[in-house]
Amino acid sequence: MEQVIETTLMGGMSRSEAEARAVDLFRQLGLPNPETIGQRFPHQVSGGQLQRVMTAMALCPKPDLVVFDEPTTALDVTTQIDVLAAIKRAIHETGVAALYITHDLAVVAQVSDHIMVLRHGRMVEYGTCAQVIETPHEAYTQALVSVRSIDHTEKAPGADPVLTVQGVTARYKGTHFDVLKNVNVDLPAGQTLAVVGESGSGKSTLARVITGLLPAAQGQITFAGRRLSADLAGRSRDDLRELQMIYQMADVAMNPRQTVETIIGRPLEFYFGLKGEAKRKRVQELLDQIEMGRGFADRYPAELSGGQKQRVCIARALAAKPRLIICDEVTSALDPLVADGILKLLLDLQAQQGVAYLFITHDLATVRAIADRIAVMYKGEVRRYGPKSDVLAPPFDDYTDLLLSSVPEMRLGWLEEVLAHRRMAAAGN
Ligand code: ADP
Ligand code: MG
Repeated sequence: MEQVIETTLMGGMSRSEAEARAVDLFRQLGLPNPETIGQRFPHQVSGGQLQRVMTAMALCPKPDLVVFDEPTTALDVTTQIDVLAAIKRAIHETGVAALYITHDLAVVAQVSDHIMVLRHGRMVEYGTCAQVIETPHEAYTQALVSVRSIDHTEKAPGADPVLTVQGVTARYKGTHFDVLKNVNVDLPAGQTLAVVGESGSGKSTLARVITGLLPAAQGQITFAGRRLSADLAGRSRDDLRELQMIYQMADVAMNPRQTVETIIGRPLEFYFGLKGEAKRKRVQELLDQIEMGRGFADRYPAELSGGQKQRVCIARALAAKPRLIICDEVTSALDPLVADGILKLLLDLQAQQGVAYLFITHDLATVRAIADRIAVMYKGEVRRYGPKSDVLAPPFDDYTDLLLSSVPEMRLGWLEEVLAHRRMAAAGN
C-alpha cells in the first residue's frame, strides 16, 4: 500500500482518500482481497497480481497518461488474459489515456484504439487498430501480422524413438515435493516433441533430468537405444556428444571473450580432435548452415544481434553432430520476426540432418509452428501427450482448454469474446 500511494500523497491527496482510492483500483483490477492485499510485500503475490498492483500504482494519482511497457510479456497466457482484461477495464473506467508498448501485435489488437509500428527507431505505419491489423499498408507490418504462419505438418510416427522417458520423478535437494511426477514421453528420431506449460510446471527440470544435471529419483531414460545413467558423471562421451542443449539466454551461454570461431570450434576439437585448417573449414560450413556469412567467424558475442547469437548457439550444438537437441525457450527472448527465422532454420536443419528436438516453450504459437508431438505439463505432470493433431483437437482436459483458449488471436474483439464465453461457462456451472 505504501508504494502504491506514494506518488498520490506527493500530489496532495490525504492518506485516507489515497488508501480508499487504491482499494477501489485493486477491486477494479480484479485483485483478490482488495481491502488487505495492499499489506503484502511484492514477493508475497504472484506475477500477474504484481502486474495489476503496479497498474493500480500508476492509476492512483489520477494521471492523464499512463505508459505500459510490455506489462504482460513475462506472464503466462493464462495469466496474461486476466491482466489484459483488468488493464483495459481500468483504462475505460478512469478515462485515462494510455501508451501501450509491446512486441505482440495480437495483444495490441485487443487493447488499442490506434497503433504505431516502429522499426529501427522509425515509424513504419500509423493508423486505427482495425486498419493496421486488418489492412496493413507496409510490408513490415504485413510480416508482423502474418508472422505466426509457419505451416509445419506433423511427421508420421514410426521412426525408432531417439528418446524414451519412463516413469520419471524428480525433486530438488532440500525441497519436500516432487517437481516431476511420473513423467512418460518419447520422441521418434528426427522429430520434434514440444513441451508446453505455464511457468513453474517443470519444463526446465525435465531438461535437467534428461541432460543429467538433476538425477531422477525414479524412472529411466533411454537415449539412442542406450539406457542413460541418471548422473552426468556416469555418461559416455557419445552420450554427451549426441545430446546437446540450447538455452533462452544466448548471451550467458557464450564466453564473451571468445570469437565465434573459437566458440563453434570447441566441440569440434573436443569431440572430433579437429585443429587448424580442418577446424576452420568446418566452422565455415557450420556458419553456412546457420545462414550467417563466413565473416562472422572473427566477431565476439557482443558484436552480434540477439538472433545471430542464438544462431551461433545452434551451430555450436550442431558441431557435435547430435541426435537430439534440447531447446529451452530458445525463441522466448527474441522479437517475433527474428524468432520466426530461428524456427524456420531449426526446421530446415531437421529436414537436412535428421536431428530431433525436445522443444520447451510456454508459447503455443511456437508449438503449432514446430511440433510433431506435444506434451502439456501442469504442476510437474504431463496432462496431455500425443501427436500435435490430437493434442490440439478437442475434447480437451480443463487445463489444456484454458491454455489453448488463452492465446491471443490477431483479430479485433477476441478478448471480449473469450471473456464472455468464460462468463457464460461459469454461469452454466
Ligand atoms: P518451468 O521451466 O516449467 O518454468 P521449472 O522446471 O524451472 O519450471 O520449475 C519447476 C518447479 O521447480 C518450480 O516450482 C520451481 O520453483 C522449482 N525449482 C526450479 N529450480 C529449482 C531449484 N534449483 N531448487 C529448488 N526448486 C526449484
Ligand atoms: Mg523454464
